[in-house]
Amino acid sequence: ATAPAQYDVVIIGGGPGGYNAAIRAGQLGLKVACVEMRETLGGTCLNVGCMPSKALLHASELFEAASRDFAGIGIEVTPRLNLPVMMKQKQDSVTALTKGIEFLFKKNKADWIKGRGRIAGPGTVEVEAADGSKTTLKARDIVIATGSEPTPLPGVDFVEGKVVDSTGALALPAVPGKLIVVGAGIIGLELGSVWRRLGAEVTVVEYLPRITPGMDSDLATAFQRALTKQGMTFKLGSKVTGSKVTDKGVELTVEPAVSGKDGGGAAETLTGDVVLVAIGRRPYTAGLGLETVGVEVDKRGFVVGDHFKVADGVWVIGDVTTGPMLAHKAEEDAVAAIELIAGKAGHVDYNLVPSVVYTFPEVAWVGKTEDQLKADGVAYKSGKFPFTANSRAKINHETDGYAKVLADATTDRILGVHIMGPQAGEMIGEACVAMAFGGASEDLARTSHAHPTRSEAVKQAAMGVEGWTMQA
Ligand code: FAD
Repeated sequence: ATAPAQYDVVIIGGGPGGYNAAIRAGQLGLKVACVEMRETLGGTCLNVGCMPSKALLHASELFEAASRDFAGIGIEVTPRLNLPVMMKQKQDSVTALTKGIEFLFKKNKADWIKGRGRIAGPGTVEVEAADGSKTTLKARDIVIATGSEPTPLPGVDFVEGKVVDSTGALALPAVPGKLIVVGAGIIGLELGSVWRRLGAEVTVVEYLPRITPGMDSDLATAFQRALTKQGMTFKLGSKVTGSKVTDKGVELTVEPAVSGKDGGGAAETLTGDVVLVAIGRRPYTAGLGLETVGVEVDKRGFVVGDHFKVADGVWVIGDVTTGPMLAHKAEEDAVAAIELIAGKAGHVDYNLVPSVVYTFPEVAWVGKTEDQLKADGVAYKSGKFPFTANSRAKINHETDGYAKVLADATTDRILGVHIMGPQAGEMIGEACVAMAFGGASEDLARTSHAHPTRSEAVKQAAMGVEGWTMQA
């Protein structure tokens, strides 16, 4: 038998964590292999996450605008949905992107080893290919980048085309008459928006008394109002306890989440054509052989490391470890971990990882929410500016939402920025940069922003912190 291939770094998983790690390792001259068991590179994000969802959000947003808004600006059309074409353009984009990662691997001399990887002891990874053949790789450092999978809901079994997870909801063959989304988090609201725009009646059932946990609660209230105005129905404080697939569709049993004196009430049945379960994602470590290197997981299944290191020569990045489960966070982890492996410095500030909901309007934020500042007893000042007073938003007839800047009451350092409005996801970048440089709200307020742009609302919100907003 030939001797096992010897690498500096072997990465298990080829998602945003794994592929960025492989490329960075290649750039730094490390001999690197990335083990990925899917047919394509790119992980959840490129194949069944960020990218296909954004493709459908973009297309469905244009479809709704054409159906609802075009006439008002003097464009008369009668749009007709061609779902197979919409799905095909989504898949074509996904294929182009995953091929792009393959090209970057070649360019940076990173080997893609196709198959399922398993740690078989210190410095050893065994790969089982789809045909059952096994290869052993030797590595000085192993990086775990195996990502996450949808969390199942007890009592609600997945049934193809009927009770689906996000992957199923990205590929429905027809627009459901009634779609019930379980979970009012980012993924549920994005995919719920897609199908509502294409014609489905959408009800979102959520356990908590609010939507999008983690979002500033002031913003969450405004966001829920905007989605309700668009026709989405919310059933909050409700617990889904079971499901049954019948000829008529899917029956969901729903109970009030809080029982006893303040809550209670009888269980009821909701019926939909399709149910999307989007209650969160859980770390994926099945069959990984962590025990062979003495690595344990926490009680929620996450592999926890100290500055990405979990054992001698074993590192962890991305969704499978702590921090926000986001592609750009996985990417930052990847660069930091590889630079540490290469003997350089590596660090990620999780407070500065932005969150974005790609609905219409978008919601984006970075840093602390008002709820967190209150809970932590931090004295802060706040400035808020509505898009109804922003000229670009007015001209475009898109005035829902606002920008809010939170700053330390004493030092004026920016603590959080929260935006709801079209392209909020693009606008949050300047807040991330300002905060990374330790900027004050006065810095934002005194920086010239082009007119007329929506980003002027961020500047005006910062001016609001100083008490000299001009346009509102
Ligand atoms: P993953 O992308 O999950 O990649 C892990 C890879 O490892 C997978 O390809 C898997 O096949 C492989 N793997 C696992 N175990 C093994 C093994 N033993 N051997 C070989 N291969 C293995 N995030 C954003 O930032 N923005 C968004 O807009 C966004 N939208 C999303 C929409 C949806 C519908 C979903 C589901 C997620 C979305 N996310 C978004 C989250 C984002 O996809 C994840 O945060 C990101 O993919 C995490 O990257 P990762 O590399 O840690 O893991």
